[in-house]
Amino acid sequence: MHPKEERTVVIVKPDGVRRGLIGEIVNRFERRGLKIIALELFSATKQQIDDHYPKDEKWILRLGEKTLANYTQYGIDAKAELGTDDKKEIGLMVRGWLLDYMTSAPLVKMIVKGIHAVDMVRKISGPTMPAAAEMGTIRGDFSVDDASAANRDKRAIHNIVHASETPQEAEHEIQFWFAPEEVHDYKRAEDDIMF
Ligand code: GDP
Ligand code: MG
Repeated sequence: MHPKEERTVVIVKPDGVRRGLIGEIVNRFERRGLKIIALELFSATKQQIDDHYPKDEKWILRLGEKTLANYTQYGIDAKAELGTDDKKEIGLMVRGWLLDYMTSAPLVKMIVKGIHAVDMVRKISGPTMPAAAEMGTIRGDFSVDDASAANRDKRAIHNIVHASETPQEAEHEIQFWFAPEEVHDYKRAEDDIMF
């Protein structure tokens, strides 16, 4: 595969859609030279979101660990606030919050293609925690949400976009969210000039 052929999935989350940021988000990828080759506004079912996010123990433990680390950092008693300090239980709890959040409004799903699409899109999106995201990133420019506030309110962090983290995750998400006939490749005017 030519490096220009790398693909990744972006989903504009309910807070992004409800804040009117769809165009802004598409623009940030397009202006960088990345190509949108599939795009759709839709409402997801809980089952779809459940199948979208990984179910393996490793991913759930990582989610639990990240949440617990945040409690430790701010000296908050996880057990008092969540009723448990078990990584797996907390991971499953955050996963449940995600299902509620991702089905609370329509989403926009897209496939973005280009050189280092996966890493480039993560870079343009910024890190998971908007409060820690650099200005110039989508999460850093449009949100100040943080795990400490989200955990206290027992909801997922509202961070505007989802973006695949690895090429493997991207391919899984492309297969899951898109039928082959929904993907439309084309040549962009810039292709001849930029590369
Ligand atoms: P992402 O790839 O940057 O979206 O982050 P992850 O794959 O680690 O987590 C998936 C989603 O779960 C994030 O985008 C957040 O919406 C939510 N999330 C992740 N970590 C936490 C956390 O510590 N607390 C809460 N409340 N939500 C979290
Ligand atoms: Mg992720």
